[in-house]
Amino acid sequence: MVKKYLLLTPGPLTTSEKVKGAMDFDYCTWDDDYKRITQSFRHSLLDLAQVSEKEYSAVPIQGSGTYGVESVISSTISDNDKLFIAINGAYGKRISEMADVYGIKHVDLVVDERQPITLEQVTKVLDENPDVTHFAMIHCETTTGILNPIEEIIPKVSDRGVITIVDAMSSFGGVPIDMKANKIDFLISSSNKCIQGVPGFSFVIARRSILEAAKGIARTLSLDLYDQYAEMERNNGKWRFTSPTHVVHAFAEALKELNEEGGVVARHQRYVNNQKHLAAGMEELGFKVLIDRKFQSPIITSFIYPSDDFDFHKFYQELKEDGFVIYPGKISQVPTFRIGNIGEVYDEDITKLLLAVKEIVDRTNLQLKCNE
Ligand SMILES: *Cc1c(COP(=O)(O)O)cnc(C)c1O
Repeated sequence: MVKKYLLLTPGPLTTSEKVKGAMDFDYCTWDDDYKRITQSFRHSLLDLAQVSEKEYSAVPIQGSGTYGVESVISSTISDNDKLFIAINGAYGKRISEMADVYGIKHVDLVVDERQPITLEQVTKVLDENPDVTHFAMIHCETTTGILNPIEEIIPKVSDRGVITIVDAMSSFGGVPIDMKANKIDFLISSSNKCIQGVPGFSFVIARRSILEAAKGIARTLSLDLYDQYAEMERNNGKWRFTSPTHVVHAFAEALKELNEEGGVVARHQRYVNNQKHLAAGMEELGFKVLIDRKFQSPIITSFIYPSDDFDFHKFYQELKEDGFVIYPGKISQVPTFRIGNIGEVYDEDITKLLLAVKEIVDRTNLQLKCNE
């Protein structure tokens, strides 16, 4: 039996007992009761995105978050289109890799991973590439924890007649997003991030008119977003293939808990408090935060290694012994590790984590090395 720990990673994350409990039954995948749950959560997702059922539709796709992003890229952008991808981390890069796999024409703007994407940079690329038809960017780049300013960029891109795609995987449900005001055509997230469900499916919130125009573009059968949408509309929420039934029930419970917590605004506040407490406490112990406070998301924080010979693996193991699992870094310029604070994680958990880190720092003289 694995010793239990608090997951301080950006998904899968720590879920509530009730969310886990909702999976304690073997549900039927095509029964009417089940289809009603699907319809109900599709509707709730539109509420979270602050859009109407008339103009938008939420479509779940089996698989992890990447499957949802790939379904949008591979099944809504045709060979005649050109995709512009703004990249400042691994998830932006992943979209570029998808475009390569499908032979989709694309232009990439690659920005330093420690800096946010700016409207100025995006405008310049658009001016140089008048044939761009689609634009994709990441909201919270989980690679570093940076929060890209979609509200400054996306409306301006959309005003030029470009279809907009936002990977809001690690922010949706934890950071308020007004999809219509921000002119987002496709927004992608998944069951196991800020909504605090378990892993198993992703979902796309799409502007109906644009999704319907994408009929027939799909390059694979299983990731055909239009087809999944059409089947759900025709058949009252029926998924095309076996759906993750346990995950869906857990997700329905997670949405209920999000509502009980006070919705996205209240959850966002809890995450902000967690992040501030974490960053301040770690800095007091001698760790340095990678991202400028102005651009730091409330989702996950990157810390620079306190010394050249910092042994992350050892640090990780010691923290795990104490009941906390953290996350390695993912960027090339500076060695970092990451600590997520989303999920069923509260102020007192951060206090306990900081005490555990302090104890390890004191015991291993980390603090001294850091000041050398
Ligand atoms: C988690 C995440 C994804 C999806 O990753 P999966 O491992 O496929 O769930 C995509 N984009 C961002 C920004 C993420 O944080």
